[in-house]
Amino acid sequence: MADHDERNDSELKQEYRGLVDRLRETFDSGVTRPLDWRRSQLDAMKAMLEDNESVIAEALAADLSKPPQEVVLGETALLFAEIRHARARVERWARPRKVDTPMFAQPATSRVQADPLGVALIIGAWNYPLQLTLAPLIPAIAAGNCAVLKPSEVTPYTSKLIANLVPRYLDRRAFAVVEGAVPETTALLAQRWDHVFYTGGAEVGKIVMRAAAEHLTPVTLELGGKSPAIVDDTADLKSTARRIAWGKALNAGQTCIAPDYVLVSPNRKGALIEALASEWKAMLGDNPCTSDDYAAVVNERHFNRIAELIEQGTVAIGGLADPETRRIEPTVLIDPDMDASVMTDEIFGPVLPVIETENLDTAIAFVRAGDKPLSAYLFTKSGAAEKQFLDELACGSVCINDVMMFMSVPELPFGGVGMSGIGQYHGQAGFDRFSHLKSVMKRGRFPDPSIRYAPYSDFKTKLLKWFA
Ligand code: NAD
Repeated sequence: MADHDERNDSELKQEYRGLVDRLRETFDSGVTRPLDWRRSQLDAMKAMLEDNESVIAEALAADLSKPPQEVVLGETALLFAEIRHARARVERWARPRKVDTPMFAQPATSRVQADPLGVALIIGAWNYPLQLTLAPLIPAIAAGNCAVLKPSEVTPYTSKLIANLVPRYLDRRAFAVVEGAVPETTALLAQRWDHVFYTGGAEVGKIVMRAAAEHLTPVTLELGGKSPAIVDDTADLKSTARRIAWGKALNAGQTCIAPDYVLVSPNRKGALIEALASEWKAMLGDNPCTSDDYAAVVNERHFNRIAELIEQGTVAIGGLADPETRRIEPTVLIDPDMDASVMTDEIFGPVLPVIETENLDTAIAFVRAGDKPLSAYLFTKSGAAEKQFLDELACGSVCINDVMMFMSVPELPFGGVGMSGIGQYHGQAGFDRFSHLKSVMKRGRFPDPSIRYAPYSDFKTKLLKWFA
């Protein structure tokens, strides 16, 4: 495809209208409905990832200096697991789901039939640029849809790779990739889709939802937010520090569900910070900015943004930012300015404010004072604390005594609530997200009591009330 420079906005819109029309024709032809076709596309996607393991790793290294192990951990392993899971269960998910019919409505059978929605637009983000673009495609395929993928332009190598590979492996009649930035995404969003699935920040999420509203198109918005890690006084500090340190260092903290900040009581704060320092040292050595096991910040704009966050508190660990490699040491901040962006906005980098809160009540109140997070973590040995945390904190997902690992369970729905997102996917939640759950009732002809038909009477009303 030619660059935007060569085409104006109306040409782009026209080109994409043609693309959507073509995919809708495919959808209307019924090609995507048979389970065999869906399974063949999931197999093709698996083959695409297997055959291209090394070029995928190269693209992610070029975009984010992503270490090979993190390519597996954060990108391909999740995709393989979701593909395997969907392939094994697609028949069951697609099967009509029988539901009970009340006595009043007898004789009848009732069921729910999952219908594919049609043609979906999937807009990916840059931090896990392969996984976040392809993972929504898995349930889109399983549910029998066509789709256009728009990878993030912020990671151009991976975007180009997706654009090259998808048409080589998947059915071109049903799937396409459009590369580009704001003009291309805007022109895509102007089209009439049957679903728009967006991953990224909330501000663009609002743009996506506004555009979708024009056609009353349903959206899934996978957004971010400030995911807290609460460490209570019963928590085992060594494993707590190890897991939080891992969660903040993975992809240099550029993970939507990374622990954003830590809440801990004053009497454990010092020991936790010491333990974090020793865990990072064990993982990344004395100079993380030169470690091959540590990803870079994606670009200069984000590098400068994160480097400025370090100024907004007292550095307790790390603090070094190397513009050459665009790496920033895992950094603990204490006593941050509560009104500064490090505490008001999602950090999305390897900076970890550690804040004192007296106890679990005050920690929960602290989190609840902000927007509902995408995920929340509690480190504790107390069952009562766990129950209180689960009951009192609204957020997308929770992990007790670890961070982020719930992502490895395909049947746990993934997605935010409130400002952290709309709608969930992974496993069956994803299949249902890309389906319309059509209600189907089939009535028998006999008996056909006159109770609901006019002429009405007191007796019929009484009977109705009794049935109700
Ligand atoms: P991004 O810059 O890659 O943008 C996401 C997509 O939106 C891109 O495809 C981009 O082309 C498009 N876009 C950008 N500006 C646009 C505009 N004005 N109009 C239309 N489209 C536009 O990603 P980002 O927003 O920097 O991503 C970071 C955010 O994403 C963080 O808040 C993070 O927490 C969140 N995130 C959420 C998840 C999740 O699964 N919930 C995953 C990763 C990232």
